[in-house]
Amino acid sequence: MTAGDGRARLRAALVEAGLLVPTSAAGVDGRSASYEAVVAGLEDVILRAGAGLPVASVRFPPVMPRTVFEKSGYLESFPDLMGSVHSFGGDEAAHADLLAAVESGAPWADHLPPTDVVLCPAVCHPLYPTCAGTLPEGGRLVEVSGWCFRHEPSTDPFRMQSFRQHDYVALDGPEGARRHRDRWAQRGADVLAGLGLEVETEVANDPFFGRAGRILAASQRDQVLKLELVAHVDDGPPVALCSANCHLDHFALPFGITTADGEVAHTACFGFGVDRITLALFARHGIRTDRWPAPVRAALWP
Ligand SMILES: [Zn+2]
Repeated sequence: MTAGDGRARLRAALVEAGLLVPTSAAGVDGRSASYEAVVAGLEDVILRAGAGLPVASVRFPPVMPRTVFEKSGYLESFPDLMGSVHSFGGDEAAHADLLAAVESGAPWADHLPPTDVVLCPAVCHPLYPTCAGTLPEGGRLVEVSGWCFRHEPSTDPFRMQSFRQHDYVALDGPEGARRHRDRWAQRGADVLAGLGLEVETEVANDPFFGRAGRILAASQRDQVLKLELVAHVDDGPPVALCSANCHLDHFALPFGITTADGEVAHTACFGFGVDRITLALFARHGIRTDRWPAPVRAALWP
């Protein structure tokens, strides 16, 4: 048996049960009401984990301004993962050219110039420009939840192109940001343990592109900027269910975010992989949610 067999079996079981509804694109699946009931329960668990904290909430749509995307540095580090929205802006003659290209089977995307939006690559990215200016004393804590896109077509159910993340983001001084990251790494592990998912915390790196990217990845590891909470959900490779990231001033500098004492702020985010955790719950506890362990059901649906 290869490492991928468990993953393929899980996907087949999810599809057979109707929990995932495949489309013709790899990693782009519909989700059933039962699947979404787990997501809703999980979102509540994640919100309860932050209850009592002075946390603001914001929801952004799955697209974000191209200008913000350019400033975020994503194109430098992850050009292969991004998604850009294009549309038609021509006249009737240009429309006829477009249709002729489609009908003849020729490439037709050249007829569609880019719009002013791109697909959101990480749920916290649209937040930073909205926090420009001086932070209050003690910084800010914001929870953000929504859809992300990453162009990595795969039949591994844990590697979808379109998926949800739920982040707790701190905007603060360097110490406050790192403290947030470390606290939430522990809190996140506790949340997952409460759902029957034991995880290990590992130092990780982002999938930076190219030769320069290998240097960035090594530096990120050396500085322990990224932690992942990984679980062994089947006989495949371990799956990162959450990530805890120190961004240093990567976002605060370009978006003009400063601390109350006038220094460039640091940001950190702790992200729950909502779809990955949902899939891990099915992998761990089985396809039938009515047979899940009572404590897990009670946590999800109190
Ligand atoms: Zn984030």
